[in-house]
Amino acid sequence: MSANLIDWAPGRPFVVSIHDVAPSSSGQVAHIVEALLPRVGTAMSAAIIPAGFSRGRGTQLAAFVRGNCREIALHGYSHQGNCHCHPLAWLAGNSTEFIGLPPVEILARLQRGQGILREAFGAAASVLLPPAWCPGALTPAMAQRAGCYVLVGLTRLSTPTTKRPLAVYSWDCGRFAALGYAGELLGRLRCHLRAAIPCIVLHPCDIRRKLLGRGLAVIDWLLHNGFAPATFAEIAGAPPDLLSKTKPATAHEIVERDLRHHPGAQ
Ligand SMILES: [Zn+2]
Repeated sequence: MSANLIDWAPGRPFVVSIHDVAPSSSGQVAHIVEALLPRVGTAMSAAIIPAGFSRGRGTQLAAFVRGNCREIALHGYSHQGNCHCHPLAWLAGNSTEFIGLPPVEILARLQRGQGILREAFGAAASVLLPPAWCPGALTPAMAQRAGCYVLVGLTRLSTPTTKRPLAVYSWDCGRFAALGYAGELLGRLRCHLRAAIPCIVLHPCDIRRKLLGRGLAVIDWLLHNGFAPATFAEIAGAPPDLLSKTKPATAHEIVERDLRHHPGAQ
């Protein structure tokens, strides 16, 4: 691995992104966060599937993420697609929510998702990460209309003013666990060929597939070689006021807000 990354100057950023954060995988998410905390502190981006947190569900996991992750990203609405005949949808186990949806429906889902994040996490997301990196009919303008300043794709992130290349290392490439090794190789190649920003993507299923250790090894190598962990919004150069507005609220701030909105609920 070192030969692929050796050209990087010390102090270059990398991102750690935890995908598929939902109450149904809270145990695995907690396991991943606890493995990351001693390595990167709170410099983690949690990609949230909002539907699982609707109607007050998942409060414990939401509090845990708020307390430990510096950034939340909107990861679709339900994560699940309906376009079964599409080859990418088949490969990704139908985790391609936006494929086949009309733009108006995608925008509605983004707005619904942001509403749930505001309730559960105390802030909407400034970062949008389409499920399986498949945007379908999603455009950067739609992401902005939903309040997302940064749109993260498989090979780059985009904002209204900039684009940054990403080298995504992901060990979940769909139905077949063995494809995880291809996902790691892809990240290494892009780091080497494009001098892109390393983006280490960890999924709850990495634990069951016994691939989490490979992701942690890449992170350890990056840290050992002078890379510094950062969030997507930070490397995109998001305005400071936006960063503070979209930072997940602390438990104390959530209680204060609820008391303001429902003063009789003490
Ligand atoms: Zn996902």
